[in-house]
Amino acid sequence: MEASSGHNLTPEVNSVGVIGAGQMGGGIAHVCALAGYNVKLSDVDESRLDQSLATMDENMERQVAKGKISNDDKRKALGLIETGTEISIFSGCDVVIESATENEELKKQILRDLCPHLKPEALICTNTSSISITRLASVTDRPGQFMGMHFMNPVPLMKLVELIRGIATDEPTFKTIQHMTVRLGKTSATAEDFPAFIVNRILLPMINEAVYALYEGVGGVESIDTALRLGANHPMGPLELADFIGLDTCLAVMQVLYDGLADTKYRPCPLLVKYVEAGWVGRKSGRGFYDYSTDTPVPTR
Ligand code: NAD
Repeated sequence: MEASSGHNLTPEVNSVGVIGAGQMGGGIAHVCALAGYNVKLSDVDESRLDQSLATMDENMERQVAKGKISNDDKRKALGLIETGTEISIFSGCDVVIESATENEELKKQILRDLCPHLKPEALICTNTSSISITRLASVTDRPGQFMGMHFMNPVPLMKLVELIRGIATDEPTFKTIQHMTVRLGKTSATAEDFPAFIVNRILLPMINEAVYALYEGVGGVESIDTALRLGANHPMGPLELADFIGLDTCLAVMQVLYDGLADTKYRPCPLLVKYVEAGWVGRKSGRGFYDYSTDTPVPTR
C-alpha cells in the first residue's frame, strides 16, 4: 500500500455518483443503473436533469424493443437513479465520476467542492477527454484514489472505456475501477496520462484535418463525410462525428493537444473556432456542420 493511499483493499462499489447530466453523464448514469448500482446524478442546471432522465427512459425503451433488456430491468434501473443540483448528494457514494463540461478550471472547482462531502475511502474518476489526470488529481485530498475513466459516446452502445492512471493513482483504485468496467459490460484499454490519451490523440487530429479540408475548400461537408464513410469504411463521416461529439468538446481537446504537446500540427482549425464562437456546437445545439432542425440533417456548407 502506498503511504498516500487511504485504503488497501479493493472496496466494494454499490453507489456511484455522476457529476454533469449532459450527453455523457446521462449515458454513464444509464449503464451504471442497468448494472445495478445506486446512482446519484447532479447538474448545475436542473432542466438538464429532467432532460437526462427523459433521454434515459427513451434509450432504455429502445433497448427493450430490441430485446436487449426486459421491461422489469428498465423499471428497476430507472428506480435506482436519484438526481439533484447539490454536490452534497454524493456523500454516501463509493465512486464519483466527474463528467461536467470539458474545462480544466471548472473541473478543478468541482473537485475542490466535492472532496469535503465524500467518505474517506470513496474513489473519484473523471471522464475528461483530454485534461491531465495528474493535474486534476492534485486539487483533491486523495490523488491516490483518483483516475481517468473515459467513456465513449454514446455510452450505452460503445464498448470501450479508457482507463488512465495519474502519477499517484494506487493499485487498489485501478483494480476497483477495472472491475467496475467489467460489471458495466465494457472492455477497457489502459492509456498513460498524456494529453488526450489514446482514442482522442488519434481521432481528434483527424476530425480537425477534416475541418481544415472544409475550410480550404478541398470538399464540401457532404463530400468529406461521404469520402471517409465509403473510402475508409468509417461508420460516420468526420464532420458528422464532430457534430455528434460536440464542437466545443472537439475544440477543447485540440487545444489541450496543442498546448500540451507544443506541436503546430495540433493547431485547432480557425473554422472550428468560429463555429464554437457562434454557438454552433453540433447536434446538442441543433446546428454544427449540419443543420438538425429538420428530420434529415442538412449540410451547412
Ligand atoms: P455536455 O455539454 O453535454 O454536458 C456537460 C454538462 O455539465 C452540462 O449539462 C452542464 O450543465 C454540466 N455542468 C457544467 N458545470 C457543472 C457543475 N459545476 N456541476 C455539475 N454539472 C455541471 O458535455 P458532454 O459531451 O457530456 O461532456 C462531458 C465530459 O465528458 C467532458 O469532460 C467531455 O470531454 C467528456 N467526454 C465527451 C465525449 C463526447 O463525445 N461528447 C466523449 C467522452 C468524454
